[in-house]
Amino acid sequence: MPRAPKGAPTLVPAAAVLERLLRHYPTPDTELAYRNAFELLIATVLSAQSTDRRVNETTPALFALYPDARALAVADPADVEPIIHATGFFRVKSRAIVTLSQRLVAEHGGDVPATMDTLTTLPGVGRKTANVVLGHALGVPGLPVDRHVLRVTERIGLTFETTPEGVERDLCAALPASDWTRMSDALILHGRRICRPRPLCGECFVADVCRYPFKTGGIAPLDLGAPPTGRPAGRARPPSRNAPGSQRSDKAPRPTIGNAIKRTTTNPQAGSSRRSGNAAKADSSRRSGNAAKAEGRRTKAVKK
Ligand code: SF4
Repeated sequence: MPRAPKGAPTLVPAAAVLERLLRHYPTPDTELAYRNAFELLIATVLSAQSTDRRVNETTPALFALYPDARALAVADPADVEPIIHATGFFRVKSRAIVTLSQRLVAEHGGDVPATMDTLTTLPGVGRKTANVVLGHALGVPGLPVDRHVLRVTERIGLTFETTPEGVERDLCAALPASDWTRMSDALILHGRRICRPRPLCGECFVADVCRYPFKTGGIAPLDLGAPPTGRPAGRARPPSRNAPGSQRSDKAPRPTIGNAIKRTTTNPQAGSSRRSGNAAKADSSRRSGNAAKAEGRRTKAVKK
């Protein structure tokens, strides 16, 4: 169950939000194109740090050459790289999907397993990817939490949690299992179209129950419990991600494809090189300032 910070207002009912979302997105679904669980699994891995449109442009050629796990398991990653190049991080991803296919063949006869526990033992498969595949291709209720779901649920006031696992737990507790996957799909569509990083609250059909406009001085939420005092409606500030004991600081990241990509793109030298770059600029401008002054003095001396 959600753990409300002391003094925080009540959560917004998930069913009320889902009802409004379904009025505008009557048949929410993943925007990844796929024909079976294997294709969706590979497409979801390829979608890390990419867009669904880019993945959908790439996968027809990939699956024409490698239609199943057995075919992809014996592929040379170097041959796969040019096919998936447009999705970005093609070297990491080509190795990942070939290794993943080899494990599917070796341990599951080439099929995609239909349980969270088994799926998440596969290389590069985290809870989000597993939930996408379970909920859409295997008929097993799953509620994927991506960055859109994290952002939108926090703004609306559907949860006090700040981690994907916590948000998934809260939403699953608040809704019947039959609604889990479409709730996630509808939140993702809403996060892409209306509740973007810069939200279009004036056009939003969830605004009447959303805490965010109230927090930011816009529309007040209807009959959902005003905040007691202090911070206007909305949740209390979540604990810092670096606070001792916070869930984020205690957990090492899972070795998923997304985390692998983040590691490859994080340059520990970036901060220091930026600092040394600034220092170099300051130094050079100091030098040129001094040089100009010296030149001025020389000119005066010559005139004298
Ligand atoms: S009202 Fe604004 S913050 Fe709330 S869901 Fe709509 S767009 Fe997002």
